[in-house]
Amino acid sequence: MKALTLPMILKTLEKIYTPPRTFLDWETPLDLLVATILSAQCTDVRVNIVTKTLFARCRTAEDYVKISREELETIIHSCGTYHAKAKYLQTMCQMLLDHHDGKVPDTMEDLVTLPGVGRKTASIILWAVFGKNEGLAVDTHVIRLAQRLGLTRHKDPKKIELDLTRGLPREQWGKVTTLLISHGRAVCTAHNRKCEECVFQNECPSSSARHLPDLAKVRSRESR
Ligand code: SF4
Repeated sequence: MKALTLPMILKTLEKIYTPPRTFLDWETPLDLLVATILSAQCTDVRVNIVTKTLFARCRTAEDYVKISREELETIIHSCGTYHAKAKYLQTMCQMLLDHHDGKVPDTMEDLVTLPGVGRKTASIILWAVFGKNEGLAVDTHVIRLAQRLGLTRHKDPKKIELDLTRGLPREQWGKVTTLLISHGRAVCTAHNRKCEECVFQNECPSSSARHLPDLAKVRSRESR
């Protein structure tokens, strides 16, 4: 049987999940940057509830610097680790004002210098806001899907990013994350693989429809 490749998988998923999109609500580049920082260790659904209030209160980097730490922490409290997140948001916005005219920068180099912004967040911003394919954001959904679909044997996000980007045209990098997340939420969920409903059930090396073991669990056991 032909092994699944990432280009084949993307082609199929693009027909199902159209258009590929982020799961956070945002209007401006700053909104997305803030929402992405809040989404660490928190669900997108929760973040979208919180940002409804937050974005009504803060529209610019200046607003985030001027709002009191207490009020900001109260608004974002339910996203978890709110002390750290509030500090990140205010320090980051001060840096935007000091070095970038209050705007979100459009290079990986500049983005990763901002507090709370790593390569994953920067990749999302660059793709979703600026249409740039500088990297590939690897979150828990992407790790699970990549392992189950046999696209990687690794657990380390950086190594998985390398496995996924190797040989894939750069212009396709940005959509990998959102397409794999879409499939990971709808069908190939963490606790319940719905392989009988999945378009990859005949080729996937983790297909329970063909009584195959879950490779994400296998990889997890291997590393213990
Ligand atoms: S066949 Fe099953 S394990 Fe493979 S991608 Fe589909 S849902 Fe996930």
